[in-house]
Amino acid sequence: MGEHAVVLGASMAGLLAARVLTDFYDRVTLVERDELPGGVEHRRGVPQGRHAHALLASGSSALDELLPGILAELVDDGAVVACTDEPTDFWQELGGHCLRQESVPFKQPLRMYLATRPFIEAHVRRRVSALSTVTVLDGHDVVDLVAAAGRIAGVRVAPHAGGPEQLLDADLVVDVTGRGSRTPAFLDALGYGRPEVQGTEIRVTYTTQLVRVRPPAPPAKLFLIGAKPETCSGAAFFTCENDRWLLTTVGLGGCEPPTEWDAMVAFTEGWAPEPLVSALRRAEPIGEPTRYRYPASQWRRYDLMRRFPPGLLVMGDALCSFNPVYGQGMSVAALEALALRDCLGSGDAALSRRFFAAAAKPVGVAWELARGSDLTIPGVQAPRRLGTRVSGWYTDRLVATCGSDPTVHEAFVRVTNLIDPPSRLMSPSILVRVLGSRRKAERAVHTADTRRAAVGRE
Ligand SMILES: Cc1cc2nc3c(=O)[nH]c(=O)nc-3n(C[C@H](O)[C@H](O)[C@H](O)COP(=O)(O)OP(=O)(O)OC[C@H]3O[C@@H](n4cnc5c(N)ncnc54)[C@H](O)[C@@H]3O)c2cc1C
Repeated sequence: MGEHAVVLGASMAGLLAARVLTDFYDRVTLVERDELPGGVEHRRGVPQGRHAHALLASGSSALDELLPGILAELVDDGAVVACTDEPTDFWQELGGHCLRQESVPFKQPLRMYLATRPFIEAHVRRRVSALSTVTVLDGHDVVDLVAAAGRIAGVRVAPHAGGPEQLLDADLVVDVTGRGSRTPAFLDALGYGRPEVQGTEIRVTYTTQLVRVRPPAPPAKLFLIGAKPETCSGAAFFTCENDRWLLTTVGLGGCEPPTEWDAMVAFTEGWAPEPLVSALRRAEPIGEPTRYRYPASQWRRYDLMRRFPPGLLVMGDALCSFNPVYGQGMSVAALEALALRDCLGSGDAALSRRFFAAAAKPVGVAWELARGSDLTIPGVQAPRRLGTRVSGWYTDRLVATCGSDPTVHEAFVRVTNLIDPPSRLMSPSILVRVLGSRRKAERAVHTADTRRAAVGRE
């Protein structure tokens, strides 16, 4: 396709983009502001990496397609596997409904790989930087895009620690510098204008603490407790590499979880299930807690721009930054990388138009799922039309049904893992089960309450 592609940003989206580009360009240069660590370490350019990062089933299979064998490597090195047909693996509550069942006969069980974000990223980075045509230029800032003859022809970079600028000529530049991407400003300066930005102000605050839990082992490997409209608080608590557990408490719509350990535990009392709270009471913090404030989801609609310069693409959070509570960002980045591969497979003519249209499919699905849930939170300021209220009501019924109906549960899990389209949840077979399920759902809530009380007593 060309001699040289340059990828700006070596986080998850950048690494996966670089992997795809090695199939089509002679050389790929990854420019990254941070000095990249050799192993599993937090780094400044990815502050969100200290918080819970779920890899959805769609994301893990896309990752394995791009880097065959990577999931086995994660597990060999200590990632924990949770499987949807193993009732003791997951404990999920949404909108006050417990989705957990005694036996979970999923037709096609899904796997989740539980690990910290630096652990996942370090494995992907090791594989991508080992590719013979990849050069990693870390410790360098992107200064500006360079335009020539009506296209983007390269990028100017400079050492982060100071020093002379360097021009990198490129047949293709891919901006994956994250949410703070400056491509809109570059495009504006070049006369292309800025993309329209869509978004919902959600004011999410994460507070996270890594811990070790004294026996007995908690009754699930992964607890996902979604916010109820009344409390606007939720949590993710899961086991990860090196026999540790990660607690992320979440406040939505401006609610701020505390950062002191005892206060974090107290914060979960009242809305988290007793087995989770009791595991937290047996936990010893490792290191300091960290906080992250996320103001609003943001989708830059490059797919809707009338003009866009050839030689440039935008991917990952620079394209769309999702409300983190649904764990979609890395998985959508992997799906975008597959879309890039497919687009490049048909040549580079009109590449940006074709890529932005292809990427808008997985982005749009994840976006609509997230937005539908966001609008059920009272603190989220956005208009609720009749359709939104009806869909909120249906989703609540559907989630209530998950605890008693494995077919509905499996359909829900496959959609939220971005494997099946959301329309699957409105198919006649699911509609009938959901709408006819009020009594069954009430029984399930009762059973779940009884089980929670029983496990709590144990
Ligand atoms: C609190 C929080 C929790 C999240 N939880 C999940 C989750 O559970 N599951 C999930 O899939 N996703 C989650 N995400 C999203 C996920 O972190 C991102 O989608 C993912 O990292 C992909 O982002 P990216 O590579 O596009 O950008 P980023 O990860 O933001 O990386 C951008 C990279 O560009 C570099 N960079 C920036 N500017 C420059 C510059 N000028 N010059 C050179 N380099 C530069 C940065 O150093 C960084 O390495 C979460 C996000 C947040 C905020």
